[in-house]
Amino acid sequence: MYDINKIREDFPILSRTIYDKPLVYFDNAATTQKPLCVLDAMRDEYLNVNANVHRGVHWLSQQATELHEGARETVRKFINAKSTTEIVFTRGTTEGLNLVASSFSDEFMKEGDEVIVSAVEHHSNIVPWQLQTHKKGIVLKVIPMDDFGKLDIDEFSKMITSRTKIVSVSHVSNVLGTINPVKDIIRIAHEHDIPVMVDGAQSTPHFAVDMQDLDCDFFVFSGHKIYGPTGVGVLYGKEAWLDKLPPYQGGGEMIENVSFEKTTFERPPLKFEAGTPDYIATTGLAKALDYVTDLGLDNIVSHEKKLTAYAINKMLQFDGMKIFGIDDSKPVTEETLCNHDAVISFQLRDIHHMDMGMILDRQGIAIRTGHHCAQPLMQRLGVLGTSRASFALYNTIEEIDAFIAGIDKASNMFK
Ligand code: PLP
Repeated sequence: MYDINKIREDFPILSRTIYDKPLVYFDNAATTQKPLCVLDAMRDEYLNVNANVHRGVHWLSQQATELHEGARETVRKFINAKSTTEIVFTRGTTEGLNLVASSFSDEFMKEGDEVIVSAVEHHSNIVPWQLQTHKKGIVLKVIPMDDFGKLDIDEFSKMITSRTKIVSVSHVSNVLGTINPVKDIIRIAHEHDIPVMVDGAQSTPHFAVDMQDLDCDFFVFSGHKIYGPTGVGVLYGKEAWLDKLPPYQGGGEMIENVSFEKTTFERPPLKFEAGTPDYIATTGLAKALDYVTDLGLDNIVSHEKKLTAYAINKMLQFDGMKIFGIDDSKPVTEETLCNHDAVISFQLRDIHHMDMGMILDRQGIAIRTGHHCAQPLMQRLGVLGTSRASFALYNTIEEIDAFIAGIDKASNMFK
């Protein structure tokens, strides 16, 4: 039983008011709110356990290490990786993408070698590769999309050459909410022995991801987008790949032996975790994943699909409403949204997205406006920015009604 009122009690921020109106928080693709159990676990660790991990013989350090390594096991289970040695803690999706772009190209790429990304990428899966482009002349190729954001898989197959060394694609577009056919991409790339990295920042919070089923070589996500704290994320890497990649940063924790002449490194995952990790945040992340698991990802999917279908159908009743990433010439139902996540980017007539965002804000409704860190996608869509509403497990139909009333207000103001 998905008891939305009870769930909302776990998130005290949701009961606050903004400009004397109940907060409607629809900026979940940017970051999610945190349940009390996450905050309590982190506070409790600071109050009762706090000590640096891994290198202490004393009780507190061992207890903190147990929590930290226990969190790694929670992550492993959550994404069904084979082993905790495949789970590297990072600061977030962006750091995971930078780590692989840097270490992979250092070890495996030379001038003229190619990386393939897609037309819908967040800047954090474009710029790290471009830094390598500038550094050593690797070539960035882009899988094209159709007008609804569907990636062209046939074209992808044709783009692969003997110089293609890695493919790096997002699982779900943070702008369009479209779920990309990553399984097809992985299968095709593997037919050519090319590894694939998946940016799971927007998929992990919304549906179950399974590393062994996906068979991707690397997968990254952020804690703060899945009800966990900021400043922590995960890089999953197949053990064989993590073994082959050189370290990303040097320092404590990641070494086996250091002399002034030579340093040997720990095995993964520690090889990629230089310095004191944010062990309080990993505890918070594990709590957040447990929270999501207890609610049940299937329940979350069906709740969010209901919200998304309801919102889209209500929004389409406005004359001049454009919703990016869906084909609105056909009826939109929960079933037709099977390849769509809980993200809706829209444009109403010629109302500027900033105006829309500010008018909704005055109604207590938080959405995001602008380019959403995906400027190349904005260019492809022929816009400077969009308004974006994104839902989470605690949002309600009543909140969507308030959102629709807010859009109506904006519509009338610009008549
Ligand atoms: N990739 C996608 C698809 C995203 O939506 C985001 C954040 O919005 C990121 C990467 C970057 O995540 P972070 O800022 O947590 O590193």
